[in-house]
Amino acid sequence: MTQHPSPIPCIIALGSNLGDSPTILQGALTRLSQHPQITLQQQSRWYRTAPVGPPQPDYLNGCVLLAVQLSPHALLNTLLEIEQEFGRVRRDPWGPRSLDLDIIFYGDTILETPSLTLPHPRMQDRAFVLIPLCDIAPQWVDPVTGKTVKDLANRLDCSGVHLQ
Ligand code: ATP
Ligand code: CA
Ligand code: CA
Repeated sequence: MTQHPSPIPCIIALGSNLGDSPTILQGALTRLSQHPQITLQQQSRWYRTAPVGPPQPDYLNGCVLLAVQLSPHALLNTLLEIEQEFGRVRRDPWGPRSLDLDIIFYGDTILETPSLTLPHPRMQDRAFVLIPLCDIAPQWVDPVTGKTVKDLANRLDCSGVHLQ
């Protein structure tokens, strides 16, 4: 069963640094909001961020709050499908991409499977995730550390993250 009975609040991080990033990101949001089991509830501002990993163009990053009536894996599959629709090609790990959609939080679920880890295992080190997330959910509590998004963000160097 992939459909979830009651809506779960979920945080998704969006990123793009290949192609027409503003149009791709907006298109991905439209696509998400058209899904019958997904309601788009809040959206951060867009941030221009310095790349992490191999040398590549700056990213455009943002976060959204969704109400989701899908299981965690069904949500992941939906995100991977939308990435494909917007031309995502997986080459080098952390290399440039037209669209990246990561599940940061799925309610307060903690999960470790070969294809899905929740919360996202690297989000606590990433200013390009936590700064946009402070726009919409600064008081969200990470179920692993018990810290709020705002507290997690305050520990990081945020010098590479700028409102676009
Ligand atoms: P990172 O995960 O460090 O942000 P990435 O986004 O570049 O790197 P991808 O190539 O987009 O990595 O994803 C690789 C795989 O990660 C996906 O196919 C998916 O199975 C897995 N994955 C595990 N946990 C998550 C999660 N919370 N959100 C999205 N994908 C996840
Ligand atoms: Ca990612
Ligand atoms: Ca990803």
